[in-house]
Amino acid sequence: MRKTFIAGNWKMNMLPSEAAAFIGDLAAKTGDFKYGKVMVAPPFTSLPAAAAVIKGTGILLGAQNMSDEESGAHTGEVSPLMLKDLGVDAVILGHSERRLIYGENDAFINRKVKLALKHGFEVILCVGETLEERESGKVETVVEEQLAGGLSGIAEESLASITIAYEPVWAIGTGKTATPEDADSVHAFIRKIIEKLFSSSAAAEIVIQYGGSVKPENSAELMAKENIDGALVGGASLKVDSFYGIINFAKA
Ligand code: PEP
Repeated sequence: MRKTFIAGNWKMNMLPSEAAAFIGDLAAKTGDFKYGKVMVAPPFTSLPAAAAVIKGTGILLGAQNMSDEESGAHTGEVSPLMLKDLGVDAVILGHSERRLIYGENDAFINRKVKLALKHGFEVILCVGETLEERESGKVETVVEEQLAGGLSGIAEESLASITIAYEPVWAIGTGKTATPEDADSVHAFIRKIIEKLFSSSAAAEIVIQYGGSVKPENSAELMAKENIDGALVGGASLKVDSFYGIINFAKA
């Protein structure tokens, strides 16, 4: 039975004091988390403040990125050892903004996935096509390539620590959501690829989030789909009420 997993990616927003206040308010609303698994991913500079208040709330602490190296001459990078020391539970890897703005490719992302697993982090591995790729009929080719590349050399047992986030790039921050049917059919395709790369039980068990303009008004409809197990949320994760509305989708 797959557990619902809602994660908020705060991107380059939220000062330390704002992050701490948000987590306090969210924890007060969500109580004992009968809604499934919940994570927030503050920017690096707000992680210590977030870590100080998140303990004991049941909310997971995520980082938005991580270096592919443990230490050394890597100006501007943040090591998995540093994130571990702060109490970070999970890392988002391969987000489309990292791929498209900062040129991260599948081999580089794969190195980070392996290093994150080595250090005991949960991983949210993001995949998804651009509008141009969708319009030229390449959704499946792109998603398959990103999955095969990102998960190359990963042992099947490690999949228990990996969540896939399907995020069509054209739906991120644009207000355009994939229809629940379209999203579900790509999620079903992702399960097919996981079966091809690993096994049918791995395909049945892997948690797949949808991401792209998810908000309280559309979350119940998306989550009702067989293959959609949760959401990776950007804009709507920045306000406690809207993020809580998504977490609490069954009652929205
Ligand atoms: C994201 O960046 O992961 C995302 C899904 O953003 P938004 O919800 O704002 O579209």
